[in-house]
Amino acid sequence: MISKELLDILVCPDDKTKVELVGEEWLVCHHCGRRYPIRDDIPIMLIEEGDKWRIPPEKP
Ligand SMILES: [Zn+2]
Repeated sequence: MISKELLDILVCPDDKTKVELVGEEWLVCHHCGRRYPIRDDIPIMLIEEGDKWRIPPEKP
């Protein structure tokens, strides 16, 4: 589990939007829909990694 202090400073590397912790192993950017995995308590904040798990946000 990552700390709240760390979570507070984590942003999407592409658009700098604050990410949200979902479950215990995903950080989701609601702006671009990328999802960043957390492996061994280390968030993988890489655009190419986020792209793999991206769920594009629905268009309004
Ligand atoms: Zn993003």
